[in-house]
Amino acid sequence: MHRDPDCLFCKIIAGEIPSNKVYEDEHCYAFYDIEPQAPVHFLVVPKEHISGAGEITEDNAAIVAHCFAAIARICRELGCESYRIVNNCGDQAGQTVKHLHFHVLSGRDMTWPPG
Ligand code: AMP
Ligand code: ZN
Repeated sequence: MHRDPDCLFCKIIAGEIPSNKVYEDEHCYAFYDIEPQAPVHFLVVPKEHISGAGEITEDNAAIVAHCFAAIARICRELGCESYRIVNNCGDQAGQTVKHLHFHVLSGRDMTWPPG
């Protein structure tokens, strides 16, 4: 499993930095966002270090399906019937941590289009 020793989320997955875990399996890890933007706000990350959505290829794309299946399962368990899944790719889109992650936001009205 590839990891980046300087990556914040790789350190969280390894337990070197504490997190409020929601879910974990062989391939992904989910934890509550430290700066929640909704009553429910957690992040789902592949355990494999992939720096962002722009690095998804035919060879590693299965992890995305796996993360989305995990999201559906977690949301069912949390009782979240409506939610938004967000991925920020690149600096202009607001990506601050360069390890692929999906935000899951729930528990309030969402605006569209996003800001
Ligand atoms: P993004 O800006 O899309 O790259 O998302 C990164 C997210 O990681 C932000 O929503 C941050 O609040 C969140 N974050 C940063 N550090 C931590 C941490 N130590 N534990 C949980 N969430 C974090
Ligand atoms: Zn990483």
